[in-house]
Amino acid sequence: MGNTFAKLDENENAFKGRSTSVGSGTMRPNNIAERRRGVSMGLSNNVRSRANSTGSQLMYKKKSTRERDLIKESFAKQLVVRYDESVDGGYLAPHGCYTFEKLDYDPSLVRSLITARKLAPFYIPLQDFDESWTRDELIKIVDGLPLHAAVNENPEEFEDIPIGNLKRQNFDELIDKSLSKKEQRKQRSKIFKARLHRKRIMWQEQENVAFLEQKLESKREPNPSKRNLALPSPDLNHTIYKKGIECPICFLYYPEPLNYSRCCLQPICTECFVQIKRGDPHFPHEEVDPTKPVTSDDEKDPNLLISEPASCAYCATPNFGITYQPPTNRKTGIGGMPPGSYKAPRDDEINVNDGSDSEEGPRTPSKSPEDPEVVTSDMIRPDWKAKLDKERLRLARRSANATAIHVSNQLVDPDHPSRRDSNTDSGPTPTTARSQRLVPNPMAELENQMVEQAIRLSLVDEEERKSSQRHR
Ligand SMILES: [Zn+2]
Ligand SMILES: [Zn+2]
Repeated sequence: MGNTFAKLDENENAFKGRSTSVGSGTMRPNNIAERRRGVSMGLSNNVRSRANSTGSQLMYKKKSTRERDLIKESFAKQLVVRYDESVDGGYLAPHGCYTFEKLDYDPSLVRSLITARKLAPFYIPLQDFDESWTRDELIKIVDGLPLHAAVNENPEEFEDIPIGNLKRQNFDELIDKSLSKKEQRKQRSKIFKARLHRKRIMWQEQENVAFLEQKLESKREPNPSKRNLALPSPDLNHTIYKKGIECPICFLYYPEPLNYSRCCLQPICTECFVQIKRGDPHFPHEEVDPTKPVTSDDEKDPNLLISEPASCAYCATPNFGITYQPPTNRKTGIGGMPPGSYKAPRDDEINVNDGSDSEEGPRTPSKSPEDPEVVTSDMIRPDWKAKLDKERLRLARRSANATAIHVSNQLVDPDHPSRRDSNTDSGPTPTTARSQRLVPNPMAELENQMVEQAIRLSLVDEEERKSSQRHR
């Protein structure tokens, strides 16, 4: 055996606790389908319409806390690894090499990409692989692997946070009503996260137990036709794991074929692929002109905010994407034969062009991010544009509010500097110069500012309205 998860423990993730399940996290409800990509990828109608409808449901505020909670829970449920949802020997949800908070992709899109065989499934990785293992040894090792890696049950961030009865959806009684409304909201959010973390562990544990029980039952059942065919046959386990490849990012051993970066054709496991994403929206880095005062981000035009596509982890080419050539020697699980019925072809039946041949690596040249075979990082987080718009709106609102405060200060404070000098945008003016300047009619100036302010606010509202429509 010897296939421990020690290597994972060294990584920053939470494999300290007992077995099972995934981490917790701030899952962001987030799927606006990029229609064009959806079409070019040839995803099923079902997939596209689902993504679109959830997109309109999920976008932008105006949802009750309860609705948001349910969306987060439904996302989390899609990240549970289920033994009876498999594709070519792998699964539709990650094994748990990264903690739960790090899983912020759109799970329904990734599941569809896997079942469409455009993205490698999430395999259960092997910690290491020894070519000297016999067929029986390998099968025994694979058979003993858990469906999901161990998860820290009590991460520090949830220490001392009450979770109450998980069977009841309502947990208002856990919130300290003597706190301010704002503090209560904060507390509520923490409790929700801690509860969701526990629920995910529970959901995954149930699945792990079912997997184990079915395996034991299968071993006891002498009649092969009565065995649970959702469980992989020993032949399938041997076929997929006998010839594997190490992912250069997580150093775990996976069955071939893996995904390959579209630019430099390097292998990458799906679990690492879903981790690669755009950075947060930011202002472009500008040349600093020492003669001018530095503009703080608050003063910049929110429309200048940018979001840059993820770059390749290997060669830094922008617009990271992968291609995947599904195996031709085993179409099992969803869209294929039951994994339990799989029988390995005899040696003389093996096709020379067998997709399992790992020596060749990817059989395709570099591809553009628009190529219909390519799955980009943006495709599995189609909300990036909405996030950018939202951040722009947030900044626009903040700046509009700041102006409102500024204007009202001018109204109540006759000595407010800007009653004499409204042109504050041009930077600090020396006091002497300012006091010597005569403003012909300060009240008229003030009225102008208020009108401008009203226009700005209505523009912000209009922009927000349009933006939420766009994402519907
Ligand atoms: Zn990896
Ligand atoms: Zn590359």
